[in-house]
Amino acid sequence: MASGVLLLVTRPPSKGLGKAAREGFAVAAKLAAELDEELSCAVVGEHIDAAANEAAERGAVSLLLLSNSALSAPGDTLTAAVTEAVRTTDPRVVIVPRGPDALELAPRIAIRLGGSSVTGVTEVRANSGEIEVVAAVFGGAARAVYRFTANGPAVIGMAPVLLEPPERSASRDTRKFIIDIPVIEERVVIIEPALDVETSRIEDARVVVSGGRGLGESENFELIRTLALSLGGMPGASRAIVDDGWAIPSEQVGLTGAIVTPDVYVAAGISGASQHMAGCSNARVIVAINTDRDAPIFRYAHFGIVDDCLEVLPELIRLRPEVSTSE
Ligand SMILES: Cc1cc2nc3c(=O)[nH]c(=O)nc-3n(C[C@H](O)[C@H](O)[C@H](O)COP(=O)(O)OP(=O)(O)OC[C@H]3O[C@@H](n4cnc5c(N)ncnc54)[C@H](O)[C@@H]3O)c2cc1C
Repeated sequence: MASGVLLLVTRPPSKGLGKAAREGFAVAAKLAAELDEELSCAVVGEHIDAAANEAAERGAVSLLLLSNSALSAPGDTLTAAVTEAVRTTDPRVVIVPRGPDALELAPRIAIRLGGSSVTGVTEVRANSGEIEVVAAVFGGAARAVYRFTANGPAVIGMAPVLLEPPERSASRDTRKFIIDIPVIEERVVIIEPALDVETSRIEDARVVVSGGRGLGESENFELIRTLALSLGGMPGASRAIVDDGWAIPSEQVGLTGAIVTPDVYVAAGISGASQHMAGCSNARVIVAINTDRDAPIFRYAHFGIVDDCLEVLPELIRLRPEVSTSE
């Protein structure tokens, strides 16, 4: 009978697991402890040594290693490889850390192995031995709780979560298995990636400063970028101003943009529509700046400033004088 929790780490950064996989590790470790079942980790990609070491040091009891240059991009070879890793392990639950692979691979693995899948998951728990997950629905306006009842594996594609993995310890015992994979001729090939995944990602930022239509005009988005930079963070935007071309699509936060979980999220001139909040409501601290004291954003904010953001943002930048707009 299938048992255990398998964390699937695909295409990790060359230096270690990376933030998304660490969150996934935390979820998988917590669930394995609740079920009193084994935690395994499949590490799949081209340069996997550092990630595999970290997974072992954080407490994976067994490691499946699938390394090949053909596994550095999404496609048929990667899908076949991860399916094989899951088939070999025969786990009860598969956790796929947040990111494109969570959306693309989780349902595919489930279909191929006769299991079931939920993506965009923010919470995973064992309830009387059953696996339950929570995911946002209706544009983030509500949360649904799902219970897995199918016989095959429960394949869970994660959204960002605020959980820390177990501390690293070099003295843990880990079983290692190297799995050979056949390289399949790809039916679709990537000609040019639209996004350089090695550059900083808003999803990983500790501070995000976002602007919305309340900025008034495109040029004022520079205030957002400057404050974000001066706080060591990244700029974000509402969809309204991305649609208007004031900010770029990778800066959009929300249901149809990035889901961020920074320590601090500053929302300037953003109304707080449910579709925007679906992308930032899990921030540790939300600071809202809005002229309308009844704006929905204040229902979520931990700190609120009812004022003109064009007055407040320059003042916040002035309080951080070491970085100027020209940098
Ligand atoms: C299917 C779907 C998906 C969507 N996905 C997303 C998504 O991913 N992300 C997203 O953001 N939106 C998304 N939206 C759009 C969303 O519903 C809102 O329309 C959008 O978030 C509004 O952007 P905004 O808050 O910048 O603008 P507005 O709603 O126009 O709000 C502007 C705010 O600025 C305030 N303001 C005005 N002047 C100032 C000033 N000088 N200083 C301070 N405050 C001021 C106003 O009081 C107001 O609250 C989606 C919508 C749909 C239907």
